[in-house]
Amino acid sequence: MSTASLTIDLDALVRNWQALDRASGAGVETGAVVKADSYGLGAARVARVLAQAGARRFFVAVAEEGAAIRQALGRGPEIFVFSGHMAGDTDMIGDLDLIPMLNSVDQLTRQMEALPGHPFGIQLDTGMNRLGMEPAEWAALAEIALAAGPRLIMSHLACADEPDHPMNAQQLEVFRALTDGCGVPRSLSATGGIGLGADYHFDVTRPGIGLYGGLPFADAAPVAHLSLPVIQTREVEQGETVGYGNTWTAEAPGTIATVAAGYADGLLRAMGNRANLFFEGVPCPIVGRVSMDLITADVSHLPGPPGALDILGPDQGVDDLAEAAGTIGYEILTALGARYKRRYAGGAGT
Ligand SMILES: *Cc1c(COP(=O)(O)O)cnc(C)c1O
Repeated sequence: MSTASLTIDLDALVRNWQALDRASGAGVETGAVVKADSYGLGAARVARVLAQAGARRFFVAVAEEGAAIRQALGRGPEIFVFSGHMAGDTDMIGDLDLIPMLNSVDQLTRQMEALPGHPFGIQLDTGMNRLGMEPAEWAALAEIALAAGPRLIMSHLACADEPDHPMNAQQLEVFRALTDGCGVPRSLSATGGIGLGADYHFDVTRPGIGLYGGLPFADAAPVAHLSLPVIQTREVEQGETVGYGNTWTAEAPGTIATVAAGYADGLLRAMGNRANLFFEGVPCPIVGRVSMDLITADVSHLPGPPGALDILGPDQGVDDLAEAAGTIGYEILTALGARYKRRYAGGAGT
């Protein structure tokens, strides 16, 4: 067996959702962001488990992702689409009962013409300048849009992972100015915003990364466990080099293990010579460059040749790997390739 196995701990996922739900506060509904195949962990299974735990509002990036979630969940839960109503989305939105978060006057017009009476939401830009209606656009449209009864009005924070950043209060103020008294459920906070306190929570929170075990939810339980089979071990003499470019040289005689995964499997090349593989909790430094399908680690200090080595789990989480590779946990998770066999642990009855 030379395929690495990615194990997703569904019970840890549920615990993270419950913790973020408690942190969102009483009377606030906690949704779940399941875009990008639930950050690489498998959207259908993740959505079913979270629905069973009590999530009723799911968020995706594009309509196609929403279609997959609807298929997994059946009728009932609300599925919001951040990209709104794009040309070509009408049938999917209509047939599968998706709720587009309309981002512009063009999208509002398309929605009203193509699917009159169908549920929709509004996304406002409060300063991030990425998606959503500008304040001036909203001022012109608000009356018409509110008369049609949107299900949700939302905006997104640019700097919520930095609690002291002045942008947070600034966006909060703009959001309030645009929406106070509108009588529609409101949502401003993703994982980072939940940590900013009750002022930021409004009616619905939208955590993503925190569910999957990553910062800025510091107390998250690890969800992704990745174990890599060892293909071969070999002895090296002092002065021998390992891997492309000879970037690592043995300072003493030792043992090198080669595992069956590399950057084609989403294990970023930038982490080479910085991260560890683990054998039953014992760190084994990655030595030499990460190649396309293989990684080499120094296992000289282990009692014998290991059958497999872990790269993600309780000993080294997504944020540890992210730091080694100079990126963020989001990128580590979503990079985990399609090559892995995904196994699900826990989540009884889903
Ligand atoms: C991705 C995303 C989220 C979830 O963000 P996390 O930081 O992963 O919690 C929420 N809202 C919007 C608009 C997003 O794009």
